[in-house]
Amino acid sequence: MANAVIWRADTILTDARTTLRDAEVITQDGVIQEVRSRTAAGHDTVRDLGNAILMPGLVNVHTHLDYTAMRGAVEDVSFFPWIRELTSRSALLTPDDWLASAVWGAAECAAGGITTIGDCTPTGNAAEAAALLGLGGVIYQELFGIDPAGQSRDIAMQELEEKLARLRRLTRGTGLHIGISPHSPYTVRNELLRATARYANRHTLPLCIHAAESLPECQLIRTGQGEIADSLRRRGINWKPSGETTVQYLDDCGLLGKRTLLVHGVQVAAADLTIAQRSGLAWAHCPRSNAKLGNGVAPLMLLGPRIGLGTDSAVSSNTLDMFEEMRFAVYMQRASRRQIEVVSANQAVGWATEGGATALGINGRTGTLRPGSSADICAVSLNSLTCQPAYDACSALVYACSARDVVVTVSGGRVIYDTSLASDAMDRFPEIDLRSWARSLEAAASRIKQWKRAE
Ligand SMILES: [Zn+2]
Repeated sequence: MANAVIWRADTILTDARTTLRDAEVITQDGVIQEVRSRTAAGHDTVRDLGNAILMPGLVNVHTHLDYTAMRGAVEDVSFFPWIRELTSRSALLTPDDWLASAVWGAAECAAGGITTIGDCTPTGNAAEAAALLGLGGVIYQELFGIDPAGQSRDIAMQELEEKLARLRRLTRGTGLHIGISPHSPYTVRNELLRATARYANRHTLPLCIHAAESLPECQLIRTGQGEIADSLRRRGINWKPSGETTVQYLDDCGLLGKRTLLVHGVQVAAADLTIAQRSGLAWAHCPRSNAKLGNGVAPLMLLGPRIGLGTDSAVSSNTLDMFEEMRFAVYMQRASRRQIEVVSANQAVGWATEGGATALGINGRTGTLRPGSSADICAVSLNSLTCQPAYDACSALVYACSARDVVVTVSGGRVIYDTSLASDAMDRFPEIDLRSWARSLEAAASRIKQWKRAE
């Protein structure tokens, strides 16, 4: 049995609604044992963070760690050409590049107080990277296949099974679970969506899909018109519009249920709310990605109660900073609805912690500092110029703090990022040598730069 650690800070946020002063959190063997009033320290290790907020590790419900090396590579291009250029540039990456890219993303999560992720990975490298950094959460194996003339359904499902077996190996003995992500309704054809839904059901696996993100996606499904439809036609792919919203279409495919996480939900209709509530699905709300790619603002009142926050990849929103994401979530809802009451700072902190854990189906295990939960903790310093003075913990976190204010991140009881180790951010990861990964990332970036637009 490992020695207990006593964690102290001037403010402790056990969940978005509960702020404690003069308290301490006791962790042992990877679990939160107790949250109590401060005691005289005994023989156990005491870590006092002083003028800081000690809170649950942040839950980033939607990332693509694999794509971190593409940060800033495709900018100011509209949505569909953006996704095509991203795919085309990533074809230049070697297997080592992909891993370095994912490790860099996982390190950025750890440094930003994130202990839990929901990650969609085409390569599986996100699982290796998350395990290396000590992150928990759900790694969804991504799947593509819009063209019936390409891979047959049986081969695609066989390949998926092999990739899932690899993910299972990579995540054994970690805090990571595996799931499946058919990428989107415009990159995975109907019969594959149905087959994936059946497979996930049979094996009780969580599902994740990008849904109702852009206007061209919704036009494709409803009327068979628009930019994506034109592109499919040019590729000789026969598409039958269903006349439905994306949510209705995915419901017909059997994809929606309690273990389903839909990502984006910008283009939703009132009728979709009934489906969301009946099926019990959850949403990953990614306000910065939705805004930056010009897709719009998700109408949160139509998404139902199960909502987590996601940064999306570093290609979409450039940083995996959950503080920015919380701030943006509040600002965008208030600006678009012209109302203050529509969302509060506490609510945003709730989405970024317990709400995220619920959306990923792992609530009770993480997302709060309650006894019995995994020891997933982050400490946010209030010593920076922009954070002083601080009168209310949630307001400070959402309106003033950033990922750079995180001083310690603990995942499953392991310290995975600690600013007290070194002044240089590269040397603050006790379990990995980030400097060697930085060289690999540079090599990946040099290949991405070599990309040339086809004439
Ligand atoms: Zn995404």
